[in-house]
Order: sequence, then structure tokens, then C-alpha cells
Amino acid sequence: MNIENLLEKTLTKPQYEAIKILGGQFHKKGTRAFLVGGTIRDLLLEREVSDIDIIVEADPWNLIHKFDPKYPLDMISNSQFNTCKIKILDQAVDLAMARKEIYPASGALPVVTSASIEDDLGRRDFSINALAACINPPNWGEVLDLYRGLEDLQLKHVRILHAGSFKDDPTRIFRCIRYSGRLGFSVEGDTKTQLLNDSTYLAQLSGVRITNELAKVFSEKNANSIFDLMDQFKVLGHIHSGFPKEPEFSERKSLLENIRIPTPEFVFYVLISLIEPNQRLDLIKRLDLGNKLSKFGTDLNRIERLEVNSSRSEIFKQLTEVSEIAISVAESYAPRELRSSLELFVNELKTISLCIGGEDLMAIGIPQGPKIGDILSKILTYMIDSGPQTKSGQIRMAKKFFSDS
Ligand code: ATP
Repeated sequence: MNIENLLEKTLTKPQYEAIKILGGQFHKKGTRAFLVGGTIRDLLLEREVSDIDIIVEADPWNLIHKFDPKYPLDMISNSQFNTCKIKILDQAVDLAMARKEIYPASGALPVVTSASIEDDLGRRDFSINALAACINPPNWGEVLDLYRGLEDLQLKHVRILHAGSFKDDPTRIFRCIRYSGRLGFSVEGDTKTQLLNDSTYLAQLSGVRITNELAKVFSEKNANSIFDLMDQFKVLGHIHSGFPKEPEFSERKSLLENIRIPTPEFVFYVLISLIEPNQRLDLIKRLDLGNKLSKFGTDLNRIERLEVNSSRSEIFKQLTEVSEIAISVAESYAPRELRSSLELFVNELKTISLCIGGEDLMAIGIPQGPKIGDILSKILTYMIDSGPQTKSGQIRMAKKFFSDS
């Protein structure tokens, strides 16, 4: 098959021109170069191509330095894994050397060696991502389909290349469900059986790798239905028993949409808010979510432990160290009584402060030491429960608390 026409029809003009130049230059340097992966898959599905991924059977970084200077290139980044990012005609392009991968253990990162395009396609996750199209001028547009990817695109299903694929790299389980949800494809029969069998290997993935995959799922347009699919495939339970399910997840997500939470982290706030309080910190640890989200989990637990009919000073004490974001999140789903306590804290209690400090207390003869803090805190508690006091009133109270102590 040759997709010469499709390349011209589907790519934007600058994308097309950029690929033409790169194909020509790599050809001159005597290496084969191919469009691969999602670029070809999306082209064949006539979807907009967002990333240009090119595989070269050599180290691309060395070659691009020898390109004809009449084609200006921006080198954006270069990695130790023989991959680099460049810009040509204002188009970002990812270049990588063809490689072979061997997995020393399930869930571990692979050992990589240089290889042919044929080997490189064999290391890929699914047949629909294992297609390549040559960009060398003599073979421009010729498709390399070693794993029946074209047929699978027609059949609209996601299929792994070999039975050990999910075991080698369990992140492919997330990827499989993500592509299925995004493209509206089914998961091919044997692949589905294998996925269900191999979900236990998810336990071997590090928290960071799981979190990265979840973040990709949540950045998809139809994240809610993909989340639902993950539930149907019983994937989440293998990571942690506390994961919430649809429709609670999407309902909570829309409830929290009005709160200003940084986008990449947003869904983790949603997740944490939905998990049973006694499982929160455990899940945060499993996913390696870091200090900020750990604090958020602890704060929510504190908020939810607040008893109905707590006094004003008890509310103050319980919430004073809690972050604003935790209060805003809890306000959006808390039962009425708890919500009133939160509103009382935010609108009134939080703003109460003393107009005296340690130095004022020392000035009236109270010795430096922990007593100063105790007395200030007692005055504040009194004011929270019983109303404001003038500066002289606060000093009087300090003297009284000191003489009573
Ligand atoms: P998109 O970026 O649209 O989600 P993509 O196919 O470009 O899709 P990437 O994650 O950018 O996805 O990966 C590029 C290609 O690298 C994939 O198409 C696939 O062939 C290969 N790939 C990525 N991750 C894996 C993996 N875990 N195992 C095997 N192959 C992978």
C-alpha cells in the first residue's frame, strides 16, 4: 500500500513540506526514514496529525548536523536514548533511532539496542501503532505493515502484537483502554482475555508510572468514559481497592470544575476527595503523588472529622492549618451542617486575630517561654467563642490568665 495521496491530503502544507525535506536529507545520508506510530495511525484514520514521529535507522542527532544548511533547523532537545526533537519550517518533529527492546522483568524499564525498522515495529504496543510509512524519495509513502495493523484499523479494534505484551509492560493496559476509548475501537478478543489475565502485573508498576498513565487518561476528551472502561476491565482494583467508580467520578469532577485547581493535578484532587478517608493516604502513597497532594488528603480527613455542633473555637482549631483548596473542595460536596461550619470558618473565624503579641506580654512582666504562646492562644479562643476584645481588653485577659496559671 502507498499513502502518497493521503499524506498530501491529510497533512497541513508545512507538515508535508517538513517531512519531504527530512526524508530527502536522510536519504542523501544513506539511511531509511519512516513516519511511525500515532502519526501513521491518525493519518490512516484521517484524523488531524498533532505529532510528527520519525524513525531513522541511525542516530538522528549525528545526521541532522550534516544536513544541507539551506534548510534551517532548530534543535530543541536531545536525549541519551538517541531521540531528539527538532523544529523545521516551524513544525516540531520527534526523531528517534530504530531500536529493539528487551524487558528484564515485568514492569521494569527495557534494555535498548539499535536495530532495523522491522525490529522497531516489533517492540510496539498494538498493531494499529506498529505501522510505518517510508519518507525516502524513492519509496515515498510506502507502508510497512508487518502486524496486520491496516486490517485492524478496518476492523476497529486494538490488538497486541504478542501474548507477553502486557506482562512485559503493564502500562500498555492503560494505553489499550485509552486508545479503545479515544478511537471508539473494541479490544480484540485474545487481547481482551490477555488483558484481564495480566492485570495482576499492574501491581509491579511504580506509582510514578501509574500516575503518568492516569494523567494521560484524564487528559483525553472523553476521560469519563475511559475511566468507566477501566472500571469494566477491573484495572483500577489492581492498583488500589479504594478507587471510586463512575458515575460518582464524573459527578464529582463536574462539581469541582469551578474551583481553581491546576489542570494536570485536577483529577487527582477529584480522586482523593472520593476515596474513603481511611484509604486516602495509602492510595496517595501507592501513586507517589507527592507532598502537596498528601497534605490535601490529610486536610480533607481533618475537615471530614469535624463534628456537627462543634463550638466556634473547636472549628477554628480543627481548620486553622488546613489549606484553602481542601476547604473549597470539601465545601462543594459536604453535607449541610459541615458546609455551614466551613462557611463560618472562611467568612468569619479565619479573620479573627489578636492585636497583641509576645512582646506586649513580656512588657507586662510575663517571662519569655512557652507560657506566652499558651496565653495568646487562650485569648484568641476566648475571642472566637465570645466576641472581639480591644487591645486593652486583651492585655487585661493576659494578666488574668497569667495570674490564674
Ligand atoms: P498519542 O500521542 O496520540 O496518544 P501515540 O501513538 O503518538 O498516540 P505515544 O505515547 O506518543 O503515542 O507513543 C508513540 C508510539 O510509541 C506509539 O504509537 C507506540 O507505537 C510506541 N509506544 C509508546 N509507548 C509504548 C509502550 N509502552 N510499549 C510499546 N510501544 C509504545
